[in-house]
Amino acid sequence: MDKIAASAPQLQGVIPYDPKYLPADMMLSANENPSDVAPEIRREIERAIRKVELNRYPDPLANDLRDMIAEDNGLTREWVLVGNGGDELLFNTALAWGGPQRNFLNFPPTFSVYAANARLTNTNVIDIPRKSDDLFGIDEDAAIAALQDKARPVHYTIIANPNNPTGKMSDTTFLNNILKSTDALVMVDEAYFEFSRNTMRPYLEENKNLVILRTFSKAFSLAGVRLGYILAHPDVIREYIKVRQPYSVDAVSQAIARVVYANRAAFEPAIDGIIAERERLIEGLRSIPGIKAFPSDSNWVLFKMDRAKEAWQHLFDNGILIRDFSASTELTDCLRATVGLPEQNDALLTALRDFVLRR
Ligand code: PMP
Repeated sequence: MDKIAASAPQLQGVIPYDPKYLPADMMLSANENPSDVAPEIRREIERAIRKVELNRYPDPLANDLRDMIAEDNGLTREWVLVGNGGDELLFNTALAWGGPQRNFLNFPPTFSVYAANARLTNTNVIDIPRKSDDLFGIDEDAAIAALQDKARPVHYTIIANPNNPTGKMSDTTFLNNILKSTDALVMVDEAYFEFSRNTMRPYLEENKNLVILRTFSKAFSLAGVRLGYILAHPDVIREYIKVRQPYSVDAVSQAIARVVYANRAAFEPAIDGIIAERERLIEGLRSIPGIKAFPSDSNWVLFKMDRAKEAWQHLFDNGILIRDFSASTELTDCLRATVGLPEQNDALLTALRDFVLRR
């Protein structure tokens, strides 16, 4: 046959997610940890991988890892589910709680994958734009009103906390108000919570509709491994298990994650270092004329400047890759730089200062 039937209608016009990853000396675009896993932990990982039976399917639910995560969070394994990166669990959220004639409440500008997954699952997206103040806060009254609109019931909502790409957390009282105002599934995406030192975990048992998403990709330096997890009521976890790919987390990833999780305390000094560098980066950016740096609870800084696109190119020409949001209507003239190692942050500040002062 020299032709093929059309793909699913919801794919028409979809542009695949593009992380805009270009090779550069300093990769400050994807909010990764700038330090790889320490050599002694890597050696332990190598030993663990050697024991993996590659001819056998992995434990579908990664129960050993589930138990470790559960114990650390004061829960049992029924409250935990691991996935192939947080991304898989985000997609599973849309599969399990979205669908035709169902509504997802979104708070842009935020992680674009949320809306993309809704579209792929034929879920209707209700957008409540964040406030255009420096914190990009959620309009609390509008959010509660949307959640209580009986004519258009919301089935799930996702709040990135801290919010990517803007950087700040939502207020805990507000999140609790949201949880109490609706029976919709409320996912609080804590992909970066290690950098904000704030979690909704204390409110899990009292809110059956709360799902907390976490990842090994950021604080634990494992973006290359693809491991995320959710914490939620066992009834909710059971629904997620219905839609997940049975073997989505391979045996090698499970082995690596177990070693890293067992050694999680060893990552704390680097996390503290990133938090300190974040504040130094914000100050440095603010000292450059014409740059407005937004506050951040995360491992990146969003900033706004004239000729942002040209500045991005200047940085790239100097071996520094950051993320360009300048063409987006909600974040005009904005760029986002991941907090790197001190020397990388210095290089970024020097190159930006040169760009601004040169002309
Ligand atoms: N949530 C947010 C807000 C993110 O920024 C990311 C990564 N870019 C993820 C979830 C998913 O991360 P991963 O799939 O690497 O676990």
